[in-house]
Order: sequence, then C-alpha cells, then structure tokens
Amino acid sequence: AGDAGRGDLVAYAAAFKGSWLYTELYQARNFGPALHKFGTFLGGAFNWLQQNLFGGRMFFTLKDKTSDHQQLAPAARFQPIAYARPDGQLTFDRLSSVFISNTAHEEEQPVHLQLLDSTKAIAINFREYASPEQRYCPAGVYEIVEESAGPRLQINASNCLHCKTCDIKDPTQNIRWVAPEGGGGPNYPNM
Ligand code: SF4
Repeated sequence: AGDAGRGDLVAYAAAFKGSWLYTELYQARNFGPALHKFGTFLGGAFNWLQQNLFGGRMFFTLKDKTSDHQQLAPAARFQPIAYARPDGQLTFDRLSSVFISNTAHEEEQPVHLQLLDSTKAIAINFREYASPEQRYCPAGVYEIVEESAGPRLQINASNCLHCKTCDIKDPTQNIRWVAPEGGGGPNYPNM
C-alpha cells in the first residue's frame, strides 16, 4: 500500500506539471519578487512588460532572499488599523464565510494545528507581534482570550480552511499544520 501511495503522489506531481495551472503559475512566478526587489512603480512596470509583452515567458526567475515570516516587524512600530464593520453586502464577517465553506472535521481527532513551543504564543507572538495569527487567519481559528491568569491563545482548529498561512507566516515558525484525519476541511459543493 505504501508503494501505491508513493506512485499516486508521483502521478499527481506529473499531472500537475502538465496542467494549465502549472503553466499559469510558472508565467506569474516573477510577479511578487519583482515588486519586492524594484518597488511598486518599477516593479509594476516590470510586471506590465513581462505579462503583456513577454506573456510571462521570461528566461530567468527572480527570487526573494528572505522568507515571508522574516518580514514581520514588531507591533510597537505600527498604529492599529480600525477596519469598518462588515456590511453584509460587499464585506462579510469571517465566521459567516467559514459557515458557507461547509468546513467539517472528524470529532475527537488529534488537533491538526500544533504549537512546537506553547510558551511562544504569549511570550513572543502576543507580546512582540500582537498575535498576528488573530488577523491573518481567514477563519478566526486563533483567538486571544483574556483570563484572570492573563492572556491565553485559543485554537479553534475545527474552523480551519487549510489555507496554510499560519504554517508559512508565523514569526518564529512555531505553528505546524498537519493534514487532518479523515479528509476533513472545507467543502464548496458548487465549485
Ligand atoms: S491553515 Fe489557514 S485557516 Fe487554517 S488555521 Fe492556518 S491560517 Fe487559519
């Protein structure tokens, strides 16, 4: 069964490489790094040229030298942003969007979002970065709960949409996303 599983994965990778999706992503590979390297205006001009004149078929690949999570700066350097409340017409609250994603996970399974060091949730994420996982997670999985003993990170793993942002963006790479048991997760029946 193990060999069959590996064979399936090899076939999946080959099928992905032969698909329109791979071609589209490959042609757009320089988009983000160009903006990071050359700035909004020069990078924007570069992207316009590469998309419109060259159709994304550049012979080189630009790369970012630092990982996304290393770009995060301490919260003390910024002012909090006051976002308008969702109007229910064009903008929606996160939990309504989770509801329409039909996200479900098997009960009683091991939590598929794990902290490698649970003390960092408050000592680093909360105190230095104002717990960015509260804001970047599209499903409101991470919540800081104020208790008499102090703040505590609550992880509502059953709402997870499997976008893997937390796996990539956590400032100390302390959140590990593992595949949930039973094929659980979002299920958009009309897509
Ligand atoms: S994978 Fe995405 S939806 Fe799930 S907890 Fe992480 S950030 Fe939230």
